[in-house]
Amino acid sequence: MKKIYLDFAATTPTKKEVVQAMNPFFSNKFGNPSSLHGFGREARAAIDLSREKVALYLNCEPEEVIFTSGGTESDNLAISGVVFDYLFKAKKKPHIIISTVEHHAVLHTCQYLENKSEAEVTYIKVDGRGMVNPEDIKKAIKQNTILISIMYANNEIGTIEPIREIGKMIEKENRDRKNKIVFHTDAVQAVGSLNCDVKYLHVDLLSLSAHKFGGPKGIGALFVKKGIKIKNLIHGGGQEYLKRAGTENVPGIVGMAKAVELLRIKKIIILRDRLIDGVLKTIPDTILTGHPEKRLPNSASFCFKFIEGESILYNLDLEGIAASSGSACTSGSLEASHVLLACGFDHKTAQGSIRFTLGENTTNEEIKYVLKVLPPIIKKLRKMSPFGRKNV
Ligand code: PLP
Repeated sequence: MKKIYLDFAATTPTKKEVVQAMNPFFSNKFGNPSSLHGFGREARAAIDLSREKVALYLNCEPEEVIFTSGGTESDNLAISGVVFDYLFKAKKKPHIIISTVEHHAVLHTCQYLENKSEAEVTYIKVDGRGMVNPEDIKKAIKQNTILISIMYANNEIGTIEPIREIGKMIEKENRDRKNKIVFHTDAVQAVGSLNCDVKYLHVDLLSLSAHKFGGPKGIGALFVKKGIKIKNLIHGGGQEYLKRAGTENVPGIVGMAKAVELLRIKKIIILRDRLIDGVLKTIPDTILTGHPEKRLPNSASFCFKFIEGESILYNLDLEGIAASSGSACTSGSLEASHVLLACGFDHKTAQGSIRFTLGENTTNEEIKYVLKVLPPIIKKLRKMSPFGRKNV
């Protein structure tokens, strides 16, 4: 059976050039970068070069790039790192602002700090398309606000948040403040699709993860602007400028840098729009979730009324099509997505959500095949559903 992968927001295949670049660092170039001999120096040089490549992409200095184990760790380090550094110096409880549609790596970290009474958190509501309003963020700022974290692009519905606008607003606010507000963005879904120049975005911290853009799993980075103080969460050696201890994942770092080097924004917008138009035209009672224009180039997400996303997924899988019913971390559970609930959908509608995310090599034929197979699946499931019979 033909297999079609439309779940590139969950993960991407590691590109062959990336595997090739990584290979020597598993075998003959196996040195520990902290060793002073030739083997160690060879590995250190590879890390230094990789850091330069990532810095070039982000338009920052190499010393501002901290390698981590992925997006989740970068988000944890950004948020807890800023909070713990503050608590170390001041005894007052800090205040954080995030949106209600953040990835769980941000949401759960903030909830943990809140439950431990280490921070106070304000959750900014989004509109029906998943967009935050910078004005709402501005209004939520308090005297003890030390951190604002808003994702660049949403992993479930693809909506792009106005990061540059928020960054400029925070910079303006900071002019008259003694305790400056740090601005973090989770750019895990944005890398490769959107401009991630940290100066253009006016961000202090930015998270990225290699497996979302053709790199290997288990490696990511956090951009930490010079002068921004964060406490390390992993204690040990002096690696990563004392911000993240542990022997570096040299093959992973080299692979991530290669993947960054290979990034090209492909014209997948045309295929995405073909899929969106086709689905909305052929399947009644379907809602496009997220923003109709300000959305990731590769992301098409829908709610199909009267049925559950999980059963659509199962039937698509039988036809060789891999999609997702939300973020990879929450699919597999029947809970309605927190993102869709935050956008104002009711539980029932939110449970009928499906996300297709396209990749660089997705073809027109694959999209045509999805558009042929999907409508009869929805029709069949609605016939079986007690809520759907009248709508088929
Ligand atoms: N942030 C966002 C927006 C994501 O989509 C993901 C992964 O799905 C993560 C963070 C976590 O990244 P990682 O899988 O590298 O831990």
